[in-house]
Amino acid sequence: MQVLLVEDDDALAEPLVAGLVRAGFVVRRASTGAEALDLTDGDDVVLLDLGLPDLDGYEVCRRLRARSAVPIIIVTARGEETDRVVGLELGADDYLVKPFGFRELVARIRAVTRRAEGRLPETGTRVTVGPLAIDRRTRRVTMDGREILLTPKEYDLLDFLASDPGAVRTRTEILESVWDSHWYGPTKTLDVHIASLRRKLGEPGLVETVRGVGFRMRTTAP
Ligand code: CA
Repeated sequence: MQVLLVEDDDALAEPLVAGLVRAGFVVRRASTGAEALDLTDGDDVVLLDLGLPDLDGYEVCRRLRARSAVPIIIVTARGEETDRVVGLELGADDYLVKPFGFRELVARIRAVTRRAEGRLPETGTRVTVGPLAIDRRTRRVTMDGREILLTPKEYDLLDFLASDPGAVRTRTEILESVWDSHWYGPTKTLDVHIASLRRKLGEPGLVETVRGVGFRMRTTAP
């Protein structure tokens, strides 16, 4: 697995590179945003520092995402909630605040790369998340074996969230995927559909609200 580490601070980057290599990763390092944008092809994951000398890390994140689906983990000293939200909205897959443990970093890398594999075109026709089962061939949905009748949009919304359980889907992502790629209508539409979906599923906690970002399908019992 190949990692691109974007970090300008040698004192942080060097031990990180050494650790990742020891853990079996192939590591490439970029010290600036421009260098990162030149280097990106072929990486399985990008670790991106936000405080870079040339470009803002968010800008690097946005540009990487515009041309590639590579998983991006923002690694930063900033820990404000708004930073995390902005990062995720720009398409980062995860957010890690310095200082962090090396084992935690490796666990996050494994998690986002596993998730990225799940983004490949779905071949199975049956998706299950806890008590929920979706049969894509017939568009039938059941909870604990009991059939749930959904409208076409409710179904599409549920199917979209269930296609990557645990992953946070931003409001924009959902609107663009489930509604239209140029959705300019009221975003309240999404909330209305989420509410009716929760009501019909009878287990409101299955679709979690991630405040200020979007929604995700819960993967484990609360
Ligand atoms: Ca930095």
